[in-house]
Amino acid sequence: MGKDTGFLEYQRKNNTDVPPAERIKNFNEFHKPLDTEKRREQASRCMNCGVPFCQSAMNLGGMFTGCPLHNLIPEWNDELYRGHDEHSFARLHKTSNFPEFTGRVCPALCEKACMCGQYGDAVTVHDNELYLVETAYEKGYIKPFIPQIRSGKKVAVVGSGPSGLAVADELNHRGHNVEVFEREDEIGGLLMYGIPNMKLDKKVIKRRRKLMEDEGVVFHTNVNVGKDKKAMEMLSSFDAVVLCCGAKKERPLPVADPAKVKGVYNAVDFLTSTTKALMGSKDTKVTSLAEHGGYIDAAGKNVVIVGGGDTGNDCIGTVIRHGAKSVTALEMMPKPPVERAANNPWPEWPKTLKTDYGHEEAIHVFGSDPRVFETTVKSIETDKKGALKSIETVKVTFKEGKLVEVPGTEKKLKCELLLIAAGFIGCEDYTAEEFSLKRTQRGTVITPEGSYNVEGTKLFSAGDMRRGQSLVVWAIAEGRACAKEVDEYLMGYTN
Ligand SMILES: Cc1cc2nc3c(=O)[nH]c(=O)nc-3n(C[C@H](O)[C@H](O)[C@H](O)COP(=O)(O)OP(=O)(O)OC[C@H]3O[C@@H](n4cnc5c(N)ncnc54)[C@H](O)[C@@H]3O)c2cc1C
Ligand code: SF4
Repeated sequence: MGKDTGFLEYQRKNNTDVPPAERIKNFNEFHKPLDTEKRREQASRCMNCGVPFCQSAMNLGGMFTGCPLHNLIPEWNDELYRGHDEHSFARLHKTSNFPEFTGRVCPALCEKACMCGQYGDAVTVHDNELYLVETAYEKGYIKPFIPQIRSGKKVAVVGSGPSGLAVADELNHRGHNVEVFEREDEIGGLLMYGIPNMKLDKKVIKRRRKLMEDEGVVFHTNVNVGKDKKAMEMLSSFDAVVLCCGAKKERPLPVADPAKVKGVYNAVDFLTSTTKALMGSKDTKVTSLAEHGGYIDAAGKNVVIVGGGDTGNDCIGTVIRHGAKSVTALEMMPKPPVERAANNPWPEWPKTLKTDYGHEEAIHVFGSDPRVFETTVKSIETDKKGALKSIETVKVTFKEGKLVEVPGTEKKLKCELLLIAAGFIGCEDYTAEEFSLKRTQRGTVITPEGSYNVEGTKLFSAGDMRRGQSLVVWAIAEGRACAKEVDEYLMGYTN
């Protein structure tokens, strides 16, 4: 274990954040790392529990807690505490392909199950992970791993989000020839066009792409499979085809259709337009964004965001950086408690109120939390040119398991920009139809229990497309497990 008395001697210390007043002036990442000595102290708090719930990924009370990658957390915390950074990173890399992504955006399911967190503060697993991977890049511990022997088998991966990248990484390291097809101009899926720059600098994805290319993975961007390339062609040219196309079909808001009303957008389209503008820019200052037009601008507008979660929060942070006049975030669910409820004990995932970076920034700029709970949009009003002018909200409540409006609670809000972040309802139709995939009612691809294979075919599927909208860490875990099955399919065994 780290230090016998580490958890008694040292308090938890997070990476420090640039204060909201400063960080909203640009789109830079804003978590500043601790110095190395402090980082080792944090690692020394790990108690190397006999039963490390942190690395277990258990489904408790319908939600997962513990790391889905089964990262060997106590092991690498111990090595980190002792100053063996290279070995510590090797233990981390054994189970995790891309700690630079999870070390930035993972909600740290591990920390929610950390034994230290039962009575005090959890170990800073997430920040320790980021330290290790960034040190590994800096010190050259990460080098291209080029397989000495190639199997001669060809695998196509469609979609380059974290699940597709994990499949490609694993199968390439195993010696198969992997080609990744991506319809966007850049790889990364929602890591690139979805999650904003301040949470994940896009240079981090480009650094990984370069490494994977040096190792032999071939990326084809701007290729939309199903449109530019047909399923038959893919299936006849490759020994296996893995579909990792995500779950980007947005849940519609019945009263406001982005295709019909000016000023209504799906959240991911809005976030993507900002990232694309920044990609064309030399720096990430808010002013330079405006120099690179073509993005959906929130400056001077009253913005309403429908839906909470990561997507809603990312929209809040982004519109604040644009210079929105006001921001309101509507959530249908009741406000969760600040502390764990009695029926939600450790180590279950805590169903508590999370005040994320966007909420903090809104509180700083506008003086109050932007979230309005148990509320939805009832109707919208447009001007003579069809542009959004205002919305009518209404309170909602659950009655006999159904969500119903509360009469007399209607309110009018000025709103020139409405962003829909109401969740996703599965993979897009055209890809599923092109490959004749059967889907669940949730719009996810059907594979047999515990398998990633589309029964009776050389097709496989992983990530949000199979699992439904989830997390980066789950996409990587699915990609790894799927790659193992593909390898077995190709070789008759897997190691
Ligand atoms: C705004 C937002 C913020 C989020 N924040 C977080 C967070 O902070 N932490 C976290 O853990 N998770 C977060 N998530 C969820 C996370 O991003 C996803 O769960 C994860 O990216 C899923 O990975 P994936 O590889 O399955 O799919 P995706 O990342 O969606 O990638 C799918 C890729 O397939 C491509 N594609 C689709 N169809 C085709 C086709 N026919 N031909 C070629 N290419 C195709 C798409 O262009 C895309 O690049 C967030 C999601 C959103 C929307
Ligand atoms: S990937 Fe996420 S859950 Fe796993 S150790 Fe890292 S931060 Fe924790």
